[in-house]
Amino acid sequence: MNKLSIEDLKLQGKTVLMRVDFNVPQNADGSVRDDRRIQEALKSINYVCEKGGKLILMSHLGRPKAGEDNTKYKMDPIAAHLATLVKSKVTKVDEVVGPAVEAAVAALQSGDILVLENTRFHPGETKNDPELSKQLAALGDIYISDAFGTVHRAHASTEGITHFIGQSAAGFLVAREMAYFGRVLSDPDRPLVAILGGAKVSDKITVIENLLNLVDTLIIGGGMAYTFMKAQGHEIGNSLLDAAGLDTAKNIMAIAREKGVELLLPTDNVVADAFSNDAQWKVVPLGGIEPGWEGLDIGPETLARFSEVITKAHTVVWNGPVGVFEMENFAKGTRGIAELLAAHPEITSIIGGGDSAAAVKQFGLDEKMSHVSTGGGASLEMLEGKILPGLAALTDK
Ligand code: AMP
Repeated sequence: MNKLSIEDLKLQGKTVLMRVDFNVPQNADGSVRDDRRIQEALKSINYVCEKGGKLILMSHLGRPKAGEDNTKYKMDPIAAHLATLVKSKVTKVDEVVGPAVEAAVAALQSGDILVLENTRFHPGETKNDPELSKQLAALGDIYISDAFGTVHRAHASTEGITHFIGQSAAGFLVAREMAYFGRVLSDPDRPLVAILGGAKVSDKITVIENLLNLVDTLIIGGGMAYTFMKAQGHEIGNSLLDAAGLDTAKNIMAIAREKGVELLLPTDNVVADAFSNDAQWKVVPLGGIEPGWEGLDIGPETLARFSEVITKAHTVVWNGPVGVFEMENFAKGTRGIAELLAAHPEITSIIGGGDSAAAVKQFGLDEKMSHVSTGGGASLEMLEGKILPGLAALTDK
């Protein structure tokens, strides 16, 4: 993915439109509860301002609905929070495009920041309306994409705009995501091990199929592993079963054999008599899940087996927890893998966004991973081998 990046640009005196992901959790009064996403974008924001650019920031916030009172989705508290984190002067406009926005842009000095209103307040945003894209593009000279969480969607502020503006480049965040995932997909340092978990097989079929062409070992844990066990003829009690995924699971195991990819499934499980942290639980061997019990985590023998393979890897891609990590009693497998990766900095560890990212953060180990993706859906689509519209649209080097 040889795309223009922020460091390739001449920014002095230029008006720069940057798509960021400021879709942050808020308190009841609108104040920012968790500013991680804003913090993550600061590197690109400060870079543009320090290089003398005039910066226009675009983001969506929540899911505003047409015809309803969307006051709580306004960008004002986000802009106010940003102002406390940067040296630049920050102003905010109440529109996405139009005369008020144009006047605010005209008033910008080098190093200033203007935050536009929630892009999803405009009906053209999610429709990737060319008219809106054109109007946005007309506000500036250069486009920077720094919202990896949205690059899998072709919206006006993520894709459409690039067709009407001179240069489009990746910000630091997006460039980093492209570098890590690009390497896995094209030239990984082997052995390459993928760990997949989470709830449903059907959600991850395309990822598994693509990964089978890339990886040396595929480890499957979490809720979806039970569909594989069932497909092998083992009793799984009340464990998660993706009935529609049974044939797929059989097929995947056959393809893995054909391609010579090692496929590892749990050999023991932590089972509980209810889906609750207060439930009774015990460890049982493969095939030992009795009626009325459900598998909520990998067992210690499985963790040891998985660990042996993981420590020999040079690259590990991890998407989906291997147990119900939100409940302390069923977090041991997921925590064990996270701790192992944290203890082996020589392994390039790439954590997909979404639940796996949430898990490593919950354990306080996110800083110890080589890369924790900022996009759940986008990282999954990257691993599926899909072309993401917001990345494809950036200017080639
Ligand atoms: P996904 O969104 O498909 O990646 O699924 C993530 C969710 O799967 C997390 O909320 C986990 O708690 C859940 N999960 C992981 N293992 C299991 C399991 N054995 N049974 C039920 N849910 C699970």
